[in-house]
Order: sequence, then structure tokens, then C-alpha cells
Amino acid sequence: MDLILFGPPGAGKGTQGALLAQRFGLHRLSTGDLLREAVREGSELGRRAQGIMAAGELVPDDLILAMVREVMVSDTAAQGVIFDGFPRTDAQASGLDTLLQDLERPLTAVIVLRVEDDVIVDRLSGRRACTNCGAVYHVDTDPPKKDGTCDRCGAALVQRPDDAPDTIRRRLAVYREQTEPVLAHYRATGTQVHEVDGDRQIDDVQADLVELLS
Ligand code: AMP
Repeated sequence: MDLILFGPPGAGKGTQGALLAQRFGLHRLSTGDLLREAVREGSELGRRAQGIMAAGELVPDDLILAMVREVMVSDTAAQGVIFDGFPRTDAQASGLDTLLQDLERPLTAVIVLRVEDDVIVDRLSGRRACTNCGAVYHVDTDPPKKDGTCDRCGAALVQRPDDAPDTIRRRLAVYREQTEPVLAHYRATGTQVHEVDGDRQIDDVQADLVELLS
């Protein structure tokens, strides 16, 4: 099973994708996570992506597709993949079509998490992430036990540079302009596209996703 979790930044793709990956034994492939790792490592890709990400813009399609291809041809992807934050443009969707055809892996479905913009701004501006293990918190709705410290590993929590208010607004605009239209590509090619209300408790959203996929 290969599926796409689609939706604006802050819709819960990471949280829901991780839970689904665990339940169905799939690999969650988050291009955002891979890019942040490249930035941390200071690789050539990371150096090229860093400024673009901080501005809330999209990293060039060829870099993203090369990164995805590398994972898809590896053993990691053998049990099936949940794409999180990819594809984000028509060119990425076409590139993914070609890649999946080459690998003879049909796309199972696209699941869209729907969340209104004002909810997203609240979620992202209060989001804090662990610098060590990647655990995610929210200052109001899911705070750590000790302010600024990860419950799981004790490392410092930080706000992602692209979760600053101006950048959040830019990321949302980029989503509406360049990413949301990608859904038309899947609807036109007959792929199953399911829409789920993402503005609910994590467990309720997850229950709907599990039902859809079971
Ligand atoms: P995310 O964690 O998915 O919200 O991604 C964080 C940032 O990484 C985005 O705002 C983009 O700058 C970049 N990024 C992640 N995935 C992609 C992608 N598929 N195409 C282009 N840029 C991406």
C-alpha cells in the first residue's frame, strides 16, 4: 500500500502519518523531515534548502524527486509508504507517477486532511519541536511537563523557523496556489481521493483514517 496524506501545513499529516505507519507497518516518507535532516547535517542539499524553507517557499522539484527516488528504491520502502508533504506541485505528482510506474507500485489512495486557515495558524504558532528526537508539542493544547524541555528525551524544545507568523501565512498561500491544485491531477486520473475533517481530536481523525484503509 502506497498512499498520500495530503493537506495544508499543520493539518496533522505528521501525527496521523506516524500513527498509520505504526498500525499498518508502512514507512512514513516526510520530505520536510528529510530536508530538515539535510539542513542539520549541513549537506549540499541542506545548504540549498535552508533559506528556501525558512522563507516558506518550495524547494525545487528536481531536488525533491531525487530525494524521494532514493528512498523508494531502498528496502525501507518495501512494505509500503505514506507520503507526507509530497507531492506539493504538479511536476512532483507527475514525477511520482513515473516513479511508481517504473517500480510497478500502484498508488492506493490520496487522503486529504481538511483544516481551516485560522486553526492552522493557531496550531503552528504554538508548535514546539524537540531538537533531538523530533517529538512535537503545543504550548496550549499539548504542553511538555517542564517548559521548553522534551518529556521523552530531555532535550530543548524550539519553534521551527518556518513556524513564525509571517512564514506560516506564506506557507498557507503556497499551499493554496501550488499544492491544492495537485488534487485535480489525482481526481482526473481516477485515483481514490478521500476527504477527512482534520479539525478534531487526534484519535477521532485516526479512527476515520483506519476505517478508510481497512
Ligand atoms: P513540511 O515539514 O512538510 O511542512 O515542510 C517544511 C518545508 O520544507 C516546506 O515549507 C518547504 O520549504 C520544504 N518542503 C517539504 N516538502 C517539500 C516538497 N515536497 N516540495 C518542496 N518543498 C518541500
